[in-house]
Amino acid sequence: MSRRLIPIAVSPAAQPPAGIDGVARWGEALRRHRGWVLCLQWAVVLLYLTLVILPVLLPPPPESARLLDHLTLFAQFLFWGIWWPFVILSVMLSGRLWCGTLCPEGTLTEWASRHGLGRSIPRWLRWGGWPLLAFVWTTVWGQLISVYEYPRATLLILGGSTVLAMGVGWVYGRGKRVWCRYLCPVSGVFGLLARLAPLHYRADAAAWRAHAGPAQRVDCPPLLDLRHLDAAADCHACGRCSGHRQAIALRGRWPGAELLQSARDPQARLQAALLLVYGLFGVALAAFQWSGSPLWVALKQAAVDAVLEGGLGLWLLEDTAPWWLLTHEPQAQDVFLWIDGLCILVYIGTATVLVGGLLHLLLRIAARCSGLDWAQLALTMTPLGAMTLFVGLSQMTLSQLRTVGLAWPSFVLAARLGLLGAATLWSLAIAGMNLKRAPGQAAGRWLAGLLLLTCLLLMDGLWWRHFVHA
Ligand code: SF4
Repeated sequence: MSRRLIPIAVSPAAQPPAGIDGVARWGEALRRHRGWVLCLQWAVVLLYLTLVILPVLLPPPPESARLLDHLTLFAQFLFWGIWWPFVILSVMLSGRLWCGTLCPEGTLTEWASRHGLGRSIPRWLRWGGWPLLAFVWTTVWGQLISVYEYPRATLLILGGSTVLAMGVGWVYGRGKRVWCRYLCPVSGVFGLLARLAPLHYRADAAAWRAHAGPAQRVDCPPLLDLRHLDAAADCHACGRCSGHRQAIALRGRWPGAELLQSARDPQARLQAALLLVYGLFGVALAAFQWSGSPLWVALKQAAVDAVLEGGLGLWLLEDTAPWWLLTHEPQAQDVFLWIDGLCILVYIGTATVLVGGLLHLLLRIAARCSGLDWAQLALTMTPLGAMTLFVGLSQMTLSQLRTVGLAWPSFVLAARLGLLGAATLWSLAIAGMNLKRAPGQAAGRWLAGLLLLTCLLLMDGLWWRHFVHA
């Protein structure tokens, strides 16, 4: 049986560009110490599998159990309280370093792809709408089965995604991350957030042309066009191309600079804008807020009354849904009725259409006033979108810390408002720089700025309302 080796050796032909600085040196280190990176990746895989699988095999924690008393609760805290919020933060600060060096799903899909069928990637799989669709699907499904709370729900969503990632890796590509590039439910979100990062790998066009050395091959997992590499959105920051043709290096840049470029691929920009407006400000925000919303309570009450008064659809008041469709955890006295599921779908769907639709409309008017593309204007709101995810996910961190007596309500409120305020200012700064270069008249650009400010304040207001009622 022939065995394929994972190439961890450094290509002797790859040399760092001349005048390499501290930032580039860090990128170089990732390439030079690839063996260590691989060890780290497999250690994370081991930790991930332990935390996803083991809690399902254990008896459920007793009601009196606290965070550190039971592996199930500790795993929940690690996954949803630490892992996810801080991965979001890390992508904003360092690009998709998480994807390229630590993500267990990325490691497993690439490993499967090295040993699999190596088929070429079909056209349907390259469709740009998958990341938005997959993000919406997993977010809504996660709410229906309470993914943050129960181990089997976590195993179903995270484990299911991992199995799919390995399956796609096994069939398509040769040692590549086809899943991560086209299908991963969070790849679109990470691509958005990475645009904010102050670090990115970039190819110097002149150095590339001037390079006269032998042809080198770089194993870029997400299959990027290295010659034109100048953006962090799709790059996994794995460092494997650092020094390639003495032209590629990790560089610093102004945080958010990528949102000022006129995109080479307007289709990708449109997809990113739709994900931000309808995915993050619509679906994700509603998913974070529905359980604490008085509107949801009123909606459910009205639905129950309507069923009882009309005498039709009484089955909606039953709790016969399987656990993989709706939360069904009788031992924790947490069982969703069919009508709960229906109301969650109606709440998230309506909020997405109303909030996303209103933002979309205002941004289109702003675009008309300023002469810019609406998608480019929408992307200036990325910092607030990123903070929406961080603040939303950190709700779980805080509620878990509260169980061990670590809660500082006034500090928490101040910190949340401070983060949202800073993200709003950051968004405004990017919007201001974009509008300054816009082709429209000065009055039109000012009006566009005011409309953008309205969009940002609208999202801040929705969080403020949630904090007041939560
Ligand atoms: S361009 Fe490809 S090889 Fe280079 S750092 Fe990004 S993901 Fe890695």
